[in-house]
Amino acid sequence: MIEFSSALKIVMDHVPKYDKKETVDINDCINRVLAFDISADRPAPPFNRVAMDGYACRKNDIGNELKIVEIVPAGKTAEKFINPGECSKVMTGCPLPDGAEMVFMIEVAVEKNGLVTCTDPEIAKKHENYSKTGEDAKKGDIVIRKGKVIEPRHIPAIATNGYSKLVVMKRPVVGIIATGDELVEPFETPLPHQIRNSNSYQLSAQVIRAGGVPKYYGIVKDDPEKTEKIVKTAKSECDIILMSGGVSAGDFDFVADSLVKAGFQIIFDSVAVKPGKPTTFAVSDEVICFGMPGNPVSTFVIFEIIVRPFIMKMMNADHKPAHVEMILQNGLKRKRVERKEYVPVKILDSRTVFKPEYHGSGHLTSLADADGIIVIEKGEHEIASGSKVEVLII
Ligand code: AMP
Ligand code: MG
Repeated sequence: MIEFSSALKIVMDHVPKYDKKETVDINDCINRVLAFDISADRPAPPFNRVAMDGYACRKNDIGNELKIVEIVPAGKTAEKFINPGECSKVMTGCPLPDGAEMVFMIEVAVEKNGLVTCTDPEIAKKHENYSKTGEDAKKGDIVIRKGKVIEPRHIPAIATNGYSKLVVMKRPVVGIIATGDELVEPFETPLPHQIRNSNSYQLSAQVIRAGGVPKYYGIVKDDPEKTEKIVKTAKSECDIILMSGGVSAGDFDFVADSLVKAGFQIIFDSVAVKPGKPTTFAVSDEVICFGMPGNPVSTFVIFEIIVRPFIMKMMNADHKPAHVEMILQNGLKRKRVERKEYVPVKILDSRTVFKPEYHGSGHLTSLADADGIIVIEKGEHEIASGSKVEVLII
């Protein structure tokens, strides 16, 4: 059994070189990993941009009665130069006319017969009310670095610089194989001794969230030959393979042997983490395989803490999973302390989490009620109620 930190390091050191890219439309780029730096194709703002509806004039003229020489809407160039004693009526978003040094707001102006006076010169003098050319970005400045996972907040910088198409990392294909004689699919009616396969669908959703493309290979029986065959097929079609079940020490746990027969080398098969102790990591020249314990909470947690970081690193994604410090309202205790343990928690309010009843890694409905997971470190017997915990939002 190896420590969780060693397991994670080994996994991360095995991230393969992956440089598949594709071009997508700006409308389809959400959650994709940017494969190049986005730079400003012109200064931002591209011209001295008026920030208020008002009157553009010289600073010395504030308080004087000024002649309005032009009206400038957004989308038009100012044609008139502003001389002393003159102003242009300007709208938010239009270029500041040459000669003008500031704008006073329409709210502090009295206009009559083509003339205007500022009614509050002291306040008006304090604000120029325009943004200077290039004050946000110079032409050529990098505004989004490659590796960013594109979120809605990145879109304005993408659009304003003219990137209607974007080069992004191709999504790795992640094969999913469920093992277990007891499994039937969700659309089937299980016999009393059978259970429905939930892991494949859960993993598929996790793969999508992590930026991969799930490719489902169905349920394989606890049979070494059948397992080997399906692994070989997946090996020729995928970048990563996820197997659920069959990695423990039971009489019918054949996954590790089948992986070896299919040309994989097992790097580790036991990690000091709970849930997920029998997690198996296997490599071949072409593909990486994660053998995950079948209990649904194990599969879920191992994906989040090991597989997701792996997929993100493979795509060179700038991935920093946010841990939020919160207060654990009810505390928790445990007897055995030889493993680092992840426990599902529910968010009560913006600062507080609560550990609901949790019966262990087979308690799959506990996930539906959880918003995050917290860690109890190896050697720790308890987390006292009211203490601070780091919550990984799931
Ligand atoms: P295993 O890791 O194969 O020993 O399975 C451990 C537990 O997880 C058993 O109770 C299995 O029935 C259950 N299990 C295995 N695979 C799945 C699956 N795909 N969906 C839901 N539960 C599963
Ligand atoms: Mg099994």
